[in-house]
Amino acid sequence: MYEFNYHRPTSLDDVASLLGANEEAKLVAGGMTLIPTLKLRLAKPSDLVDLAAIPSLRGITDAGDALVIGAMTRHAEVQRSPVVNQGIPALAAMAGMIGDPAVRNRGTIGGSISNNDPAADYPAALVALGATVHTTKREIAADNFFTGMFETALEPAEIVTAVRIPKVQTACYQKFRNPASRYAIVGVFVARTGSGVRVALTGAGPSVFRVPDMEAALAKSFTADAIKDITIPDAGLNSDIHASAEYRAHLVGVMARRAVDAANK
Ligand SMILES: Cc1cc2nc3c(=O)[nH]c(=O)nc-3n(C[C@H](O)[C@H](O)[C@H](O)COP(=O)(O)OP(=O)(O)OC[C@H]3O[C@@H](n4cnc5c(N)ncnc54)[C@H](O)[C@@H]3O)c2cc1C
Repeated sequence: MYEFNYHRPTSLDDVASLLGANEEAKLVAGGMTLIPTLKLRLAKPSDLVDLAAIPSLRGITDAGDALVIGAMTRHAEVQRSPVVNQGIPALAAMAGMIGDPAVRNRGTIGGSISNNDPAADYPAALVALGATVHTTKREIAADNFFTGMFETALEPAEIVTAVRIPKVQTACYQKFRNPASRYAIVGVFVARTGSGVRVALTGAGPSVFRVPDMEAALAKSFTADAIKDITIPDAGLNSDIHASAEYRAHLVGVMARRAVDAANK
């Protein structure tokens, strides 16, 4: 690890000042990705600005037709929250599938989506559920937030403050996990709303993406049978020591059918 200055501001204004004054500064949430990156000397920030002491970034609010989840809310809090379990049970279940208890007790929703790991679970949930990301500068539809592998629409010094997620009862997330890390080799989040069906994939490609053919078929008939003949091409899918692109393409069909079956139960 290289040397850095550590700051623990108590307001977003102070965070903005610190980021403005230090071009090489980096935000730290739970540190679940950032600290290993520093330990491996893959990043060399001049300053670390810890978001942990800013109360407005924490917590889960029931906003009627949606849930608003603060950026610094831990995965374990989402998993256990009665408000989430009532409003979007599939989201609580998804949070419970992230990593292991240590990761769930430190990792945050804001850190996860800002990092946009190609195998992270939240991007699939947010896109399938039609969420909106709130930042210190604007509101960004999840559809436009995740722009590529480890890339998002965030500008320098823009901070995720919360995520607004419409309540959806008919939804399910299924993932085929890497048995070591528990990251998704392929994860499929299916959500049925008043305006249609959304199917979002993680783990399969460089960043989250939707499957329009499955969405159209499920809008007509929300059954696993309706998508049994739909395949996605393996060209452009991730291929690594854990799974080939061809295997991932196969898993998409399997996990999507399981998700629809489970959502119908
Ligand atoms: C062993 C292990 C297993 C894991 N398994 C899974 C899994 O199964 N599924 C899964 O989805 N994830 C998994 N993760 C990732 C984990 O869930 C964390 O969400 C992720 O590592 C981000 O961690 P963090 O929230 O602590 O953010 P940090 O590591 O603190 O930050 C990550 C990045 O986001 C930036 N950042 C943080 N907060 C904000 C903000 N509010 N606004 C703007 N930028 C911000 C930071 O500057 C940094 O670049 C795993 C991680 C580990 C270590």
